[in-house]
This record gives sequence, C-alpha cells and structure tokens, in this order.
Amino acid sequence: MKIIVSHDVDHLNVSEHLLRDAIIPKQIIRKHIELFGGKISLKEYALRWRELIEGKMQNIKELHAFNKANGIPATWFFGTANGTGLSYPHEHINPFVEFLMKEGAGVELHGIRHDDKTSMLAEKKRLEEKKKMPVNGIRMHYLKKNEHTLNLLAECGYRFDSSVYEFRSPYKVGKMWEFPVHMMDGYVIEKPRPWQSKNLRQCMEITKARIEKGVKENISFFVIDFHDRYFSPKFQTWMEWYMQTVEYLKTSGFEFTDYISAMEELEKQAPIIVEK
Ligand SMILES: [Zn+2]
Repeated sequence: MKIIVSHDVDHLNVSEHLLRDAIIPKQIIRKHIELFGGKISLKEYALRWRELIEGKMQNIKELHAFNKANGIPATWFFGTANGTGLSYPHEHINPFVEFLMKEGAGVELHGIRHDDKTSMLAEKKRLEEKKKMPVNGIRMHYLKKNEHTLNLLAECGYRFDSSVYEFRSPYKVGKMWEFPVHMMDGYVIEKPRPWQSKNLRQCMEITKARIEKGVKENISFFVIDFHDRYFSPKFQTWMEWYMQTVEYLKTSGFEFTDYISAMEELEKQAPIIVEK
C-alpha cells in the first residue's frame, strides 16, 4: 500500500467571504462550541480571533514546506469557480499555482459544478490557462456528485478523479481512474458533528485503525485529504493530527507517491485485454 497526500484549498482570505457567504459567522459559532466543549484551548480560541483580524485563511507555503521537508509529493486542488463557501476570485490563486508548479508539486482542479458539462469544462480550462499545462485530475468540493458526475468528468477528459469516499482501491470509470479517498481530516476530527468532537489521542487511534484496515484489505493506493487551512496553531489538533499521521506513516515504512505516478503503475499492472 502506497500513500497519496492531497490538499483542498477552500479559502484564501477572510475578505472573500464577507457579504458573499455565511462562512465567517459559522466559524465564530464553531469556535465557541469547541471552546466550551473543552476541545480547544483558550490560546487556540484567541488565535482564531486573530485569523479574523489578520484575514489570512490559507497556509499553502507553510504546509508545502512541511511536505517538502518530509519528502511528500502532495497534490493541491484549487477552485476556479465559486460555490458552497468556496468564494475566492480565481485570479487570487495565480501566485500559489505558480509557486507550487515551480516547486514541482501537483496542481489540479477543485471542482464546483458537478452536473453541467459546459461549466465543468470552463472550470478546467481556466486552470489550464494558469498552469499552461493540461489539468489531469479533479476533486469535487465537498465531494459533491450525482449518478452522472463521474461519467461527465471522464468525458471532460480528466485522467483521474478523487472525489469518492469509499474504502477500495483505484478503479476505472471509462478512461478515467477513480482514486477513492480513504481518510479526510474533517471525518476523523469532527464526525459525527460539524465541529471538533474528538481529541488528538482519539483521532490518532481512528487514523491508525484506518491505515491498518487499508493494509489488511490490500488497498493499493491509500488517499489522504488534508485542508491547508488547518495547518496552523489556530487549529492545534488538526495540525498535530496531520504531522503525527505523516510521522506514523514514515516510521511504519510506507512509501508516499502522487496520482500521476500511481496511474503509471496501475496502467502497467492492468491486464492487457486482447480483442478477438
Ligand atoms: Zn473543498
């Protein structure tokens, strides 16, 4: 089992949300529930107010530096349209796309529309103009999809999608590879609530059990999704969870890879079908 690490960029700045969506008031409610529920410290609570004042909601360079130091070839999913709390103007991702491309990291699309091919193709094209290279893959924001979405994505020319939360190895949908997500920060730390419901020790127990399950069930590529916003002392448990998970995987001898290399491996393994 090899590990694929991916990051969804849902937010860049506080200002992009003002008058556009309810993200900021929701965050204020959430931090009070977490403070009074004993899940975050007073320091963390205070730091979250600072996020509002400073305005910065992304931690792309910080997280990339950590990945680089740990030899993790992560893939980053950026949006080029708006919806469900993803409200940044697509031009604002340009310097980050340029930075990550220069660093050799994977840059792919965080999809918004899941049911209209014209809009879906327009989102893809917008990122291709920024990358000056083809977009290979996609993850839908909030993993949103209906029964037609995967086929539509394959028709849009994606080589891979990683939007299905299922415990299985990658499989083909038409010509496209589907890489199911096996572990997502929010599902580990918050579930069953929409705010932090577990402490770090409980999170790590769940994490180790999921990794063990992956090995037992012979999962070929185990996909982890971590949002860069949480790579900050403002979200202590989340940041520690990611760092400890990476440490655990490294000390357990797992190899990290990326979607493109994984597809090459899968294509090699795939049985050659000879038509008669
Ligand atoms: Zn998202």
